[in-house]
Amino acid sequence: MGLVVQKYGGSSVADAEGIKRVAKRIVEAKKNGHQVVAVVSAMGDTTDELIDLAEQVSPIPAGRELDMLLTAGERISMALLAMAIKNLGHSAQSFTGSQAGVITDSVHNKARIIDVTPGRIRDSLDGGNIAIVAGFQGVSQDSKDITTLGRGGSDTTAVALAAALDAEVCEIYTDVDGVFTADPRVVKKARKIDWIQFEDMLELAASGSKVLLHRCVEYARRYNIPIHVRSSFSGLQGTWVSNEPIQQGEKKVEQAIISGVAHDTSEAKITVVGVPDKPGEAASIFRTIADAEINIDMVVQNVSAASTGLTDISFTLPKTEGRKAIDALEKNKGGIGFDSLRYDDQIGKISLVGAGMKTNPGVTADFFTALSDAGVNIELISTSEIRISVVTRADDVTEAVRAVHTAFGLDSDTDEAVVYGGTGR
Ligand code: ADP
Ligand code: ASP
Ligand code: MG
Repeated sequence: MGLVVQKYGGSSVADAEGIKRVAKRIVEAKKNGHQVVAVVSAMGDTTDELIDLAEQVSPIPAGRELDMLLTAGERISMALLAMAIKNLGHSAQSFTGSQAGVITDSVHNKARIIDVTPGRIRDSLDGGNIAIVAGFQGVSQDSKDITTLGRGGSDTTAVALAAALDAEVCEIYTDVDGVFTADPRVVKKARKIDWIQFEDMLELAASGSKVLLHRCVEYARRYNIPIHVRSSFSGLQGTWVSNEPIQQGEKKVEQAIISGVAHDTSEAKITVVGVPDKPGEAASIFRTIADAEINIDMVVQNVSAASTGLTDISFTLPKTEGRKAIDALEKNKGGIGFDSLRYDDQIGKISLVGAGMKTNPGVTADFFTALSDAGVNIELISTSEIRISVVTRADDVTEAVRAVHTAFGLDSDTDEAVVYGGTGR
């Protein structure tokens, strides 16, 4: 029996009852002969509440202090969980991210893990303990300040520790029974996926399926760590995310042609109006955005009106970065040269993901037909080899996801997808 890393999300440890339930689960794994490292998130919506609190004292809280504040959420759950496990007669020790050896760069609020040195975790395990680690946090190699990994970052902590400790598997426990063909909160008829390849999971995660964080899947693929996404509220098998197909009885599970539909309403659109149509313009716009440490998603440049020689460039980015991007562009207005900026945060993105797209003609046509049948207007389009995404009005997203899910035959004809907890916030 090897080492397992288990990660419990906020909804799984939302209250004292939840913590006790999770403690029992962890003890079960230990009794089955595993060495167990449990990574925990902050209880329930604690992180959101702390952010709200910070914004009440300062509209744009300082990154360093915000990280200091937010990491407190995970500390509360790790200590309570260790206490609950001790109460069941087993020894457990809790560790902050820094103590667990999670070393990051120094970009506050969205730091990247650059190394994991889990010496103290190994010692704790070798001493017969269950090790509990606060997710979502680390320490900067350069500044020695405490950092956080961005929203949902506990998933990445878990996979990074699993890689550093050479774990057999990384189990991600959450409030649904696995990865579904769409968000079960939106599509009741979503179907649970038994096995999905890293490649498709990466695209789903990048397109807004927050059941797994994109960076965590990236990490798992790089180190080839199989992930098992499952519910902490049921005993059911969940979804395996790995390179190699899993066995079901005699058969290997096959990869579906279409893996699922993802949606995302966390982005906004900026349009730079009246950009001179000459080389170097896009470069200076996106250099400005990059220098502000902002990641963008889709980009569209309109054809220029011949008479004016001016064009418009639109791009999407996280709403949380909207203010910063507008400020950076305004500051550089003279250098870049444009007329005005337009900001629109009432957009949504719908994506269809599946490796089978590469070899099945007509997927794009069927996707657009489903959207038009549902009366949904498309504003931007982007594609990769295995994904098609469109931007629509935010109000149209639910309708669009359901329509596309049905059109591609993904609706389950048996049980309804269960959501066990959480507020979906
Ligand atoms: P945790 O607190 O455990 O990290 P999250 O809220 O981050 O949980 O992620 C779980 C949620 O992800 C589910 O409750 C569900 O609403 C949402 N979700 C979005 N897309 C999917 C999908 N394709 N499959 C399963 N869940 C999804
Ligand atoms: N507590 C953090 C968040 O809510 C990290 C996590 O849950 O993964 O984003
Ligand atoms: Mg999460």
